[in-house]
Amino acid sequence: MQRFKDKVVLVTGAASGIGAATAKRFASEGAKVALVDVSDLSATASSIGQDAVLTITADVSDRSQVDRMVEETVARFRGLDVLVNNAGVYSGGDPAKISDDDWHKVIATDLDGVFFGCRAAIPHLEKTKGCIVNTASVSGTGGDWNTLPYNAAKGGVVNFTRSLAMDLGKRGIRVNSVCPSLTRTPMTEETFKDPEALEEFNARIPLGRPCEPEEVAAVIAFLASEDASFMTGANIPVDGGVSASN
Ligand code: NAD
Repeated sequence: MQRFKDKVVLVTGAASGIGAATAKRFASEGAKVALVDVSDLSATASSIGQDAVLTITADVSDRSQVDRMVEETVARFRGLDVLVNNAGVYSGGDPAKISDDDWHKVIATDLDGVFFGCRAAIPHLEKTKGCIVNTASVSGTGGDWNTLPYNAAKGGVVNFTRSLAMDLGKRGIRVNSVCPSLTRTPMTEETFKDPEALEEFNARIPLGRPCEPEEVAAVIAFLASEDASFMTGANIPVDGGVSASN
């Protein structure tokens, strides 16, 4: 499939995990890809052809760096068709002991970063009738124990997605999100090292196993494609059936 031939796609958090898999998926379908991260992007970039890739070091929680990431992408590739707001961090713990720093870091990265990215991209996406896909989480659609900052941020992304879709629909821009459950990435490596914890997770997943980053990337690519031309404001579970019981 070459659904994104000559399209320009910007993916944040592209150095590892879901973002790296997503960037590779778009590139494999013909897109020119701007990779954004605070971490080293060379591994992702080297797996994609040189002409089709741009690497940008930027912190999504900093509005001026986000404005720059969009400007650099548009300057290099002459437009923007798809924005994937994927960068994220996790923090949790006993709510009585969460520090201000932990709270603000998660909200700033996982929620402010999505807003900054969308705000900067809207004028460009209006020109191309482009779209936005946010990486939310099953953590954004229900409560859980000891995950307060993360769940608050991801819950914000879920309702942000709905509201922005309403604001932008008549301007020709679609906005959707994916809501993955436990996925094998560096963010969750501690869980994958702990057989008991993994077994506990798997027991709650109807498909009986965790998700692979490529399985999230495939749904992100679908939502960004013309195959999803009548979808906007949707928060799509990629969760092996976890949300079926809610
Ligand atoms: P990951 O840690 O492999 O990737 C996250 C990437 O975001 C990293 O490369 C990191 O450097 C980058 N990043 C962090 N803060 C940043 C910032 N301020 N600016 C720019 N880049 C920044 O984890 P992942 O699992 O691939 O996470 C990707 C997204 O998927 C996140 O939004 C995460 O919350 C979400 N998610 C993950 C899971 C899971 O189980 N792994 C489940 C649901 C949702």
